[in-house]
Amino acid sequence: MTKTGSKAGVGQVSRRDLVKLGMAAGAVAAMAPAKGLARTVNARGHIVIVGAGAGGISLANRLVQRLPNARITIVDGGARHVYQPGLTLVASGLWASSKLNSTTQNWLPSTVDWKQAYAEAFEPDLKQVRLSTGEVLSYDFLVVATGLQVNYDEIEGFSANEIGSNGIGCVYDTPEHAVKTNQMIEQWMQRGEGAGVFTLAPTPIKCAGAPLKMCFTTLSRLEARPDRDRFDVHFYVPGDRVFGIDYYNTFVKERWQSQGVIRHDFHRLVAVDGPNRKATFQQTDGTLVTQDYGFLHVVPPMSAPDALRDSDLVWWEGPFAGNWLEVDQHTMQHRRYPEVFGLGDVIGAPVNKTAASVKMQVPVVEENLLAVMQGQAPQAQHNGYTSCPLITGIGKAMLVEFGYGGVLLPSFPFIDPKEESWAVWIMKDRMLQPAYYAMLDGKI
Ligand SMILES: Cc1cc2nc3c(=O)[nH]c(=O)nc-3n(C[C@H](O)[C@H](O)[C@H](O)COP(=O)(O)OP(=O)(O)OC[C@H]3O[C@@H](n4cnc5c(N)ncnc54)[C@H](O)[C@@H]3O)c2cc1C
Repeated sequence: MTKTGSKAGVGQVSRRDLVKLGMAAGAVAAMAPAKGLARTVNARGHIVIVGAGAGGISLANRLVQRLPNARITIVDGGARHVYQPGLTLVASGLWASSKLNSTTQNWLPSTVDWKQAYAEAFEPDLKQVRLSTGEVLSYDFLVVATGLQVNYDEIEGFSANEIGSNGIGCVYDTPEHAVKTNQMIEQWMQRGEGAGVFTLAPTPIKCAGAPLKMCFTTLSRLEARPDRDRFDVHFYVPGDRVFGIDYYNTFVKERWQSQGVIRHDFHRLVAVDGPNRKATFQQTDGTLVTQDYGFLHVVPPMSAPDALRDSDLVWWEGPFAGNWLEVDQHTMQHRRYPEVFGLGDVIGAPVNKTAASVKMQVPVVEENLLAVMQGQAPQAQHNGYTSCPLITGIGKAMLVEFGYGGVLLPSFPFIDPKEESWAVWIMKDRMLQPAYYAMLDGKI
């Protein structure tokens, strides 16, 4: 692990505040009801959770405590669990990739039946899911927590296999590809000149801040070099915003301007020619623009997995039609199938797709699922809370927290959500992974 960060000159948060931050994080964990103390419910039925990632595992661990008489099955073909919020740190050369890996089995409660398979078809009218093993799984209640699908093939000439060759990086893949992304940045910098080209997708993506973080950490690395002026940094944006919330959108744009980043609005990445190191972008009027690069950070379009998109569970109309799971954004219950709930990256809602959102959605799904199982109306409401430590350079970050409508929802009175600080960097670097694992365990 090579840490190049420095706290010099960053933020106004004192060591005392940092201690408070640690205590606050501890307090959050301590205040949460310990496993087994939550009220149990004598409801019966077969609950199927599809997806054993951040949301599915956390929910399973909570439900087994609440429902001693229910049967719970979880479906996921993946045996490895990846701590995805660490991918940007690996791709920036700051963390070892091994720090991200654990096993799915490690987190699953022993009383839950794990089907190691993928859902290939959702048939909600029949209350069943078809699995990749050929098994047809019937359910009384379904929770869709599949995360999202990264659609590499929507960029001509690009696939996950391209990551780590010809100067191409992508932080939305495996830990191994995050390592290779860092190697591509290193190799570009060792060449001593050329363009670093960063992109954004035209769809909702998970952790909307991650593409910005990759640009910021790369800028820090360049600025530590005596030959910074020999490198160009470009950021191509499909629209004219780099972040959904006005304050941060303006902040990032102004900061990049001061750092010499050349921004190109209304440019969507449509093709990559790795051997010739050229990226092609399409402007809104259809004009194609080609950019030479030394390093290219690709952010592909994303959607719900095809099995979900092809099913009746998908939104039929509105901005999420055909691509994302239809749920009520407050109760997380499907709007047409009341026995179905959704959570995490797969849902179509105006929410940032983060593990922090998942942490707030899981208790809402838990309460509302239990209500529906008892013949009651769902009462718990998700307020759209999401949070992301927006890294603005190696050693500094801003704690971005907001809910539906872009309302800022700061958690810590001593952290100004509009200021960069070293304390928030430390939070990202040291504190969030233990909090994430406590969430998986159903403890917070
Ligand atoms: C680069 C990067 C940086 C990030 N940074 C942050 C951050 O700083 N802070 C933050 O809070 N969040 C961050 N996130 C986002 C966070 O990791 C996700 O929002 C979170 O993991 C979503 O949880 P989920 O359960 O919806 O999906 P996942 O955790 O992705 O889990 C989905 C699971 O579903 C399984 N699955 C998929 N399809 C099927 C199927 N058909 N059948 C069965 N199972 C299926 C998958 O194998 C997977 O195990 C980041 C993500 C990335 C990629």
